[in-house]
Amino acid sequence: MSEETATFEALGLSAGLLNAVRDAGYEVPTPIQDKAIPVVLLGRDALGCAQTGTGKTASYTLPIIDILDAGTAKARMPRTLILAPTRELAQQIAGNFETYGKYHKLAHALLIGGAPFLEQERALVRGPDVLIATPGRLLDFVERGKLMLGGIKILVIDEADRMLDMGFIPDVERIVSLLPRIRQTLLFSATLGPEIRRLADAFLINPKEIRVSPPASVAQTVSDTLVRVSPRAKADVLRKLIAKEDVQSALIFCNRKRDISGLRESLRRHGHNVAELHGDLPQYRRTETLDAFRRGEISLLVCSDVAGRGLDIDKVSHVFNFDVPINAEDYVHRIGRTGRAGKEGRAITLTTAEDGKLVDAIVRLIGRPIPTVSADGIAAESGKQADTDATAKPAPSESEPRKPKTRRGGRAARSKDQDARAKDDRSGRGGKRERSGEGADKPEVGMGDHVPDFLNAPVRVRKRRRTES
Ligand code: AMP
Repeated sequence: MSEETATFEALGLSAGLLNAVRDAGYEVPTPIQDKAIPVVLLGRDALGCAQTGTGKTASYTLPIIDILDAGTAKARMPRTLILAPTRELAQQIAGNFETYGKYHKLAHALLIGGAPFLEQERALVRGPDVLIATPGRLLDFVERGKLMLGGIKILVIDEADRMLDMGFIPDVERIVSLLPRIRQTLLFSATLGPEIRRLADAFLINPKEIRVSPPASVAQTVSDTLVRVSPRAKADVLRKLIAKEDVQSALIFCNRKRDISGLRESLRRHGHNVAELHGDLPQYRRTETLDAFRRGEISLLVCSDVAGRGLDIDKVSHVFNFDVPINAEDYVHRIGRTGRAGKEGRAITLTTAEDGKLVDAIVRLIGRPIPTVSADGIAAESGKQADTDATAKPAPSESEPRKPKTRRGGRAARSKDQDARAKDDRSGRGGKRERSGEGADKPEVGMGDHVPDFLNAPVRVRKRRRTES
């Protein structure tokens, strides 16, 4: 079907869904919806290469609602399972189900870490048709004998590439091993690297491959800049940038959770309306903070990569990378939080002389140089645009104090980063492991007392990501 002629009516959706999408204000299907909906309705497995922001959630929730409408639910035996890497994405998917399923009598349950078990168990007992879950919490319910997966007819694995980054694949493999072999499986990922292909080979049968945008492309509506800065001047330069730019609402990404609170406090002292968001906060605080940010009550949100993917907040005018992300893909996801829904967005990344390799990896991934300015220009100028020298590399002559490189073994360094992200899901897994934000600001030493299960699982080394943290 060509994009010009695509209509929701032509996709074979029920009248209830057509009304729901009309109520949501959608006029035509997005390309991923146009391609995926007929495939899902036919019951075929699908491998979707699509980023968040393309409308991919509706591309599977809409047809699933129509498929499920034909059957009935049983207590503790859902018929569809949707796995998401983060609680925020899972909540967003649940929101989509409510929006699109408003004219259907289908129930869903949300099983995510950081929220009370009891409430989630009640939702399970009520017999949800659809279960939306993060892998850790789902396995907790299975291990406690509170959930049976033998009735699952449709499995969706959303953001599979992020599952991989966060070390959740062993959990996902275990979950899949508990599902009936005869089922429909849909796997979505922003990139289709060899590891995702291997998962697709293991989980999907003769899938229809659907691609809607080149992997890791950056939205045309985002203009991005690198600002060369010395490590010690970062906070100062960030404040100057916030003052100089017309910031309505911004996400400020840090690589380490321990930097987030300090930066939030420093911005607060300078009069900014700012909050923080990371995986060590209790879930209710994460939800409250995001809601306040969405409503515009908070204008700056200092965050970890927990906010990097999947979040759909259309008013974010700026993304600041206080640190260059360690994984190039995260650059694309972080800056994709702005410039949404056709609006112009600005993404500014602070880069030090030590970030050269990380920046190179980003440039290779997005396939173009990123305009670069010096922080000196920002400090000196008052409002006018700094000179750009369209090169991606920080100047080697930059006069900043060079700390001795603390390059540790690639595997250990990567594990710490992975572990920090993995806690986003696992901090809510199991009573004993439940953390309630304590230690969020403390430097993390190794794994602390917690060795995540995935580190004990067989290691698949991703060469590309063996970088220092
Ligand atoms: P997603 O990629 O699923 O995160 O969706 C991104 C945004 O696109 C969400 O805010 C959806 O509400 C919106 N959206 C989904 N489908 C459509 C559509 N056909 N037309 C307009 N907006 C849409």
